[in-house]
Parts: sequence; structure tokens; C-alpha cells
Amino acid sequence: MTETIRLAHHVGGRAVDGAMTFSQASPSNPDDLVVEGPEADAALVAEAVANARSAVDALDQVGIEARADALSRIGRTLLANADRLALLATRETGKTINDAKGEVVRAARTFDFFAGEALRNIGERFASTRPGAMVEVDYAPVGVVAAITPWNFPFAIPAWKIAPAIAFGNAVVWKPSEIASASADAFRAILAEAGLPVGTVEMLLGAGGAGAALTGADGVDAISFTGSVATGNRVVRAAAEKGVRAQMEMGGVNGLIILDDANLDVAVDCAINGAYFNAGQRCTATSRIIITDGIADRFIAAFIERAKALKIGDPRDPQTQIGSLAAFKQKTLIASQVEQAEAAGFKPLIGGSADARPHAFFAPTLFDNAAPASLLGQEEIFGPVAGIFRVRDFEEAMTVLNNNRYGLSSSICTRSLVHAEQFKRRARTGMRMVNMPTAGADYHAPFGGVGISSFGPREQGRAARTFYTTLHTTYQLAV
Ligand code: NDP
Repeated sequence: MTETIRLAHHVGGRAVDGAMTFSQASPSNPDDLVVEGPEADAALVAEAVANARSAVDALDQVGIEARADALSRIGRTLLANADRLALLATRETGKTINDAKGEVVRAARTFDFFAGEALRNIGERFASTRPGAMVEVDYAPVGVVAAITPWNFPFAIPAWKIAPAIAFGNAVVWKPSEIASASADAFRAILAEAGLPVGTVEMLLGAGGAGAALTGADGVDAISFTGSVATGNRVVRAAAEKGVRAQMEMGGVNGLIILDDANLDVAVDCAINGAYFNAGQRCTATSRIIITDGIADRFIAAFIERAKALKIGDPRDPQTQIGSLAAFKQKTLIASQVEQAEAAGFKPLIGGSADARPHAFFAPTLFDNAAPASLLGQEEIFGPVAGIFRVRDFEEAMTVLNNNRYGLSSSICTRSLVHAEQFKRRARTGMRMVNMPTAGADYHAPFGGVGISSFGPREQGRAARTFYTTLHTTYQLAV
């Protein structure tokens, strides 16, 4: 029997019900689960922002040690509930149970990391050039942060926005994607039990208006968004009009360069992981495999053998390596992009539109002889789809790599120190990998891109303080 979960907003410490306006059926098995939720209106947004404003003052009163303790408690509770949370995300978004568990662990570690950062928010004091005066630099909370989070990492991405926000004394009004709202609500319940002031994390749901209502609301001081370029650009414009600080992470068309001297096994591992794990739904996924002629055919043969052996299916089965796409609308989008590539004359070596799969499953797809100027070379395809871009040498590989408006992640597989060093200097991406997949980043290191991939200060690691604090410079003369 199909389970139905009906969600409510959570504002001011209470559930706020409303008519169900959106629903998400389990993309791997629509008979398993349906999640429904209401739409936040402007009045509820205003109430949530006002509660968050009060919570900012309360968080200041609470102090840094209590905030650090609460963040540690959240980390521990996430770990204690990892199996339950992971299963829910698996059923709701089609990601494999192993990926979902890994993500909950990562979210927990993120809270642990920022528990420490709450205590390390240390300023500076130094002499002024004007005799007798001193200069002080301190980092104060920004205030109310609007967090718009996507569905591909329903725990990890909210964690890396909410944990630093609280660490540095901010309150959050959180609007999760309608595709992952039940996972978000389970996470919210854990946040609500951490002993933080009421209003520290307000949660508004919706699909088709709530996000814009939140980012346009008076009283929001900063907006952190992860999602598509089109929506992110709208958010940036809304933020600019209001004079509000904004941070956007918007994806990539990430390239993996494989040179003739690469370790073939490592290169295949990197490509399979980057292109297909998480069903290709990572902003750092590999969609362009840029490969020199001397290794291309051997690589393709080994890659296809590995791809055909991947276990695709029920994401709840721990043996499964690739689950479904996160939603039926995503399958429609990916299918149309693949059909466009086929119509333009590009031939899939595996997968493609001929390889139809049930529900929101999509066949791992590899196109050969992809062209840099084509859709395969330029547009983000947020699914298990990659193109082979054949090149003569390292120089041509770098030209193809940098021929893209996005600039999130890139990688090179080579045993040449010279080429690895050249790649690090010249790759026009925020994240660079050597003999590692384009996807996969640590929680204690800065994350973000260049070009149209990102906007504003970096997320994660110690770099997160830049976005979540306001730097004050104070001059003082004791007379
Ligand atoms: P969107 O980028 O459209 O984001 C949807 C979210 O943004 C929803 O929560 C929505 O809420 C909110 N939103 C929409 N309009 C606004 C606005 N004007 N102001 C503030 N918030 C707004 O992503 P989708 O989920 O539709 O996915 C589409 C594509 O985005 C994917 O195919 C992929 O390419 C990319 N993507 C990238 C991710 C990444 O990691 N970089 C993650 C997920 C998706 P509401 O509708 O209620 O306003």
C-alpha cells in the first residue's frame, strides 16, 4: 500500500497546516510513497522572518558555547538517526541507501566542524597608523538568512548552510525543494530538538512561489541558494534590488581530462564515479570526458565494460550502485536533452533514448565524438550522461576544458607532474582534482566555482565565515 506523508510548515515552534498544493511520488517506485505539502504565502513568510529576527537576538544572549553545544548535539542526533533518515531520502528521491547514509554522516560531521568554528570566530586588534589609536576587526552575525536548498543532497546541502549560519549567530528561514521536503522535515525535527531559541530555523514549504516570496521578503539579510542557473540568477537580481547579500551555487558542465600516460584503472574509476554515481545529479558530476587519442579507445572499452556491470535498481538495496533520478520532471528534462543530442547527430555508445527504463530510472549514457560547441559540451545535463571529447594533446584538452561558461570542477588523470601543475594553473574552475573524480568534496574545505557556476563567497570550511558574518572595523582612541 502506498504511504502518504502530509507535511506542514514549521514557524515559531509550531506546525502550520495548509491545503496540500504539491506532491512528490517516489521516483523509483511511485506505489511506495507520496509526499504532499502546502504553499507558504506572504503572511507566513513575514511571520517566519520576524521569528527569525527575534532568534538572532536570542542566539546572541545564548552565547557561543551553548551554540557550539547545540551544533554538536545535532551532529550526534543525525548519526543516531542515520538509518531512518537515509531510508526516507532513498524513498523520496531515489538515491541509493549507501549514498543517503553517507550524506547523513557528512551532514553530522559538518555540524561537528561548525561547532568548533562557533568558538573560533576570532577577530583582530592592532595598532592604528594614527598614534595612540587601535584598530579592532570583529565578525558579527549577518542576521536572518534565507536558505533555498535543492533535492540532490537533502541533508548535506542544508547542513552546510544551516550549521555555519547558527555557528556565527544567524537564524535561518529554510525553503527546501518540494522534491525533498519530507527528508527536510525529518532533518528540521532534529534541529528543533537541539535546544536552540525558537525561530532559529523556520521551515516554509512550497512549489512555485514560496521561494520567491521568501527571497523578496523584507527583513531577510542574506540569501544562500543552490540550484539552477536560471533560478539562481533571478535570486541574485532580487537580492541586488533589496541590497541583500547573496551566495549562489548553480552547477557545472565539469570536464575530466584523461591523458595518454594516465593510469587506465584510475581514469575509468574517476569517470564512472563522476559521470554516473548519484545518477549524475551532482553539481560536480563529470559530463565531459576529454581524452587524448592514444588512450581513447582502450579507455572507452574499459569504461563500457564497467558501466554495463553497474548495479542499477531498487535504491533501498545496499548492493545497488545507481538509483533513479530524483523526480519524473527530471527524467522528462534529461530525456529531452539526450534526444536533442541524438537529433544533432551524436550517437550514444551506451544508454540513450533507445534504452527506456521504468519510473524515473535513466540509463547511464555515453556519447562518442561529442563536439565542444554542442549541447553536450555546453549545457548542464543533470543526469547520468557524459560525452567523449577526443583531443590530440594536453594543449587541446585545456582549450576544450576552458571552453565553457560554467566553472565549478575539473579533473585530470595523468602521471605527469608537469601536466598536473599546468592543469592546476590553467583550469578555469573553482575546484580542481588530480587523479580524482570531479565530484566529491570535503566538508572542511572551501567549495565553489567561477564563471556562471557560482556567485558570492565560497561555502563550507573556514571560508564559510565570510558569507555568514559582517566584518566590522573599529578605530578607538583612548583619551
Ligand atoms: P531550481 O533551480 O528551479 O530550484 C527550485 C527551488 O528554487 C525551489 O525550492 C523553488 O521554490 C525555488 N525558487 C524558484 N524560483 C525562485 C525565486 N525566484 N526565488 C527564490 N527561490 C526560487 O531547480 P529544480 O529543482 O527545478 O531543478 C532544475 C535544475 O536545476 C536541474 O536540472 C539542475 O540542472 C539544477 N540543479 C542544480 C543543483 C546543484 O547542485 N547545483 C541542485 C538541483 C538542481 P518555489 O518554487 O516554491 O519558489
